[in-house]
Amino acid sequence: MTTELSLSPDALTGLLEQARQDYRDLAGRGLALDLTRGKPAPEQLDLSEDLLSLPGGRYNSADGTDVRNYGGLQGLPELREIFAEALQVPAAQLLAAGNSSLGLMHDCLVHALLSVLPGAESRWVEQERIAFLCPVPGYDRHFALCERFGIDMIPVPMTPEGPDMDVVERLVAEDPAVKGIWCVPKYSNPDGACYSDATVARLASMTTAAPDFRIFWDNAYAVHHLTDEPVGIADLLAACAEAGNPDRTFVFGSTSKITAAGAGVAFFGSSPANVQWLLGNNAMRSIGPDKVNQLRHVMFLRDAEGLQAHMERQRALLQPKFEAVARILDAELGATGLATWTSPKGGYFVTLQVPDGCAKEVVRRAAEAGIVLTPAGATHPYGDDPRDAVIRIAPSYPGLAELEQAIAGLTVCVRLVGYEQQAR
Ligand code: PMP
Repeated sequence: MTTELSLSPDALTGLLEQARQDYRDLAGRGLALDLTRGKPAPEQLDLSEDLLSLPGGRYNSADGTDVRNYGGLQGLPELREIFAEALQVPAAQLLAAGNSSLGLMHDCLVHALLSVLPGAESRWVEQERIAFLCPVPGYDRHFALCERFGIDMIPVPMTPEGPDMDVVERLVAEDPAVKGIWCVPKYSNPDGACYSDATVARLASMTTAAPDFRIFWDNAYAVHHLTDEPVGIADLLAACAEAGNPDRTFVFGSTSKITAAGAGVAFFGSSPANVQWLLGNNAMRSIGPDKVNQLRHVMFLRDAEGLQAHMERQRALLQPKFEAVARILDAELGATGLATWTSPKGGYFVTLQVPDGCAKEVVRRAAEAGIVLTPAGATHPYGDDPRDAVIRIAPSYPGLAELEQAIAGLTVCVRLVGYEQQAR
C-alpha cells in the first residue's frame, strides 16, 4: 500500500519545484532506455554459447534413438529426467516439447475448446460462456490468450502467498463457467510472489462447480533464484492426486530463461490421463519435437546439478541488477511515501506501486524522457488496472549502468506525477 506523508503546502511546493527541475534535466539528456520486457541480457545468453555447437556429431539419445529422425512425441527421457525435480513432475508424466511454454498453453486452451478434456462432459467451445480466474497483477500474455479465444477474465487479488484463496474458492464453487485459473507459482510475474503451502493445498482440494476445471500452473521461474535461500513450493500435482483431483493441474515450464530464449525446450506435466490427452492432440499437429535441440540441452546441462550450477551463473549476472533497482528506489523514493515496491527472491520482475491514478501518467512521462516501460495496465485483464497504480519493471536486459540511469529517471517521474497529484 502507498502511504502518503502529509506535507505542508510550502513543503509540497518545494518538492514539486525540485521534481520539475529534475524532470527537465532528465528529459534534456536524450536517453533511449528500454525496461519493457523480461528478456535475458546478451551476457546471460552467452552463458549457453557452448550449447550452440552441440550435439557436435553425436546424434543418438541414451536409448540409441537417432535424434535427427521423426518420432518421440514425449521428448527425450533423459531431458525429462533433468527437469522432473525442478518442475515437480515425475519424468514419466512430463513432456519435453517445442521451444515455447506459451505455445503449449495456447495449444492446451485450443485443445480444451475443441476436444473433450478428461473429466469433461463436453468441449469448452460448446458452452455458452467460459471464464478464467486471473490473479492480478499477472502476466499479460496469459490475459492475451484469454482475449484471443473469447474466454472471460475474472480478476482475483494477489497476496504475498498467492491469489486470495477465499475469493478463488467462492468463485470456482459457485460458477461452472469458471474453467481455469492462471498461476505463476514461484517468483511470480510480475510481483515475485511465491505460493504458500496453504495456497497449494487449497487449490488442490477446493470444490469446483466445473468438473473439468484446470489450473494452468506456469512454473516459468522454477529455478530462477536471486538469493542464497532458494524458495521451494509445495508439489501441486501430487497434492491434487492426494485430494482426489488428479486431473486438475497442467504444469508448464521452459528453458527460455535458462539457455536461449525462443530456442530452448518447453515442458508440460500433468496426470497420466491429461498427458495422454495432450499427446493424442499433439500427434495431429507434429510427428515429433526437435530432439536435436533436446539432446544438446542434455549434453549441455548434464543433470539436475548441472542445471543448478548453470542457474547460479545466471544469478551472478542478474542479482546485481535487482540489487541496483532496490538500492535506487530506496534512496530516491524511500522517504517520499509515494511508492512501494517488491523485493523478489527470484524471477525477472519488480513491481512498483505508485499512488492510485498515477501509473499511466508516470509511464507516459518516462516515455517522453526516453525511458520505455511496460504499458501501465498490462498487468491486468483487458489492460485495465482499475486503480491505475501498478508498474512492472524488467531489470534483466539493460546493462547495469543503463539500468541505473533508467531507474533513477523513473523515480524522478514518480516524484513529479505523485507531487503534481497531491498539489491538485
Ligand atoms: N510464462 C511466464 C510467466 C513468463 O514470464 C514468460 C516469459 N516472459 C513465459 C511464460 C514465456 O515462456 P516461453 O518462452 O517458454 O514461451
